[in-house]
Amino acid sequence: TTVNFALVGLGSLSTNQIAPALQKSKHAKLAGIVTGTPEKEKIWADKYSIKPENIYNYENFDKIAANKDIDVVYIVLPNGMHKEFTVRGANAGKHVLCEKPMANSSEDCRAMIAACKQNDRKLAVGYRCQFEPHHLYCRETIQSGKYGPLHAIEAGFGFKIGDPNQWRLKADLAGGGALMDVGIYALQACRFLTGEEPVAVTAQETKMDPQKFAEVDETITWTMTMPSGVNCYCSTSYAFNGINRFNAYGESGWLGLDPAYSYKGIKGQSKDGPIQFDQIDQFAAEMDAFAQCILEDRQSKVPGEEGLRDLLAIEAIYASIKTGKRTQVQKA
Ligand code: NAD
Repeated sequence: TTVNFALVGLGSLSTNQIAPALQKSKHAKLAGIVTGTPEKEKIWADKYSIKPENIYNYENFDKIAANKDIDVVYIVLPNGMHKEFTVRGANAGKHVLCEKPMANSSEDCRAMIAACKQNDRKLAVGYRCQFEPHHLYCRETIQSGKYGPLHAIEAGFGFKIGDPNQWRLKADLAGGGALMDVGIYALQACRFLTGEEPVAVTAQETKMDPQKFAEVDETITWTMTMPSGVNCYCSTSYAFNGINRFNAYGESGWLGLDPAYSYKGIKGQSKDGPIQFDQIDQFAAEMDAFAQCILEDRQSKVPGEEGLRDLLAIEAIYASIKTGKRTQVQKA
């Protein structure tokens, strides 16, 4: 049995990763599209045999409520639009898979969780790395205690961003800069590996190009303390390529991935040698898992609350930059 997905927003991620992944997945099927660009309708309909009645635009999207052929809407729009389309999707009676970061603020995350709850629909966030075998191995190994109590994690992700006019550099559409877009992977890694929520953060920001990054952050370094005492040293940047990793240090051993957050080519090392698993299509795994949750009526392991917790930490990081002080992370 399969679960039918409609993709909302047909930009580069939908085109290059998600639609191809849907061709490989076992339980998730591409059945509909929602686009604001009329020219894309025929291109996608022809390429993926999408029925005309399963094609919507942003205005008539709510009519999807009457369409029994669509089970899930996958929101792949700019971050600042996630809340609106998640709420509208849930109100239309659809389960929602939403890309990361879940929304521009924790307040918006809470509204999205509430809307899905009120409509008795499932909500999940596109944290693909949580389905990736190298990441899963690292988490299991750390939590098994194989390397003793964990002391520290260092994690970072960044890249050199191009086009100065893109939505990722606009505060209303992106919610923030490098931290919201890719720093969130380092934050996720720390939370995923430890299974803990940060208590407090200390953060600082630098800007090499204040004009290009007038509205959003360019480079941030931050530290986080976990309840067990694990210290996390993290960084993110839109200014240069290269940092894409985590390393975790226990009392009697260490492990890490570099690159850690790419779509393919994940590589790991540990005290005991290389960490090697098959490279999987992380998007296919993420969508299959959500489809199975729907078929078996289970909660996703990456529910809305997981997105909310990241936003709470991100808000503490921005607050710490503003005040220059160590800042408590609010509880979910
Ligand atoms: P993109 O710019 O390639 O696509 C965005 C789409 O939204 C386009 O089709 C565009 O037409 C549409 N859109 C509608 N209103 C818009 C507006 N006002 N301004 C700009 N575009 C508008 O972006 P993307 O890289 O596909 O990212 C989409 C979402 O997916 C983001 O939330 C991003 O964080 C997330 N993402 C996740 C991953 C991942 O690995 N999980 C990777 C890339 C992007």
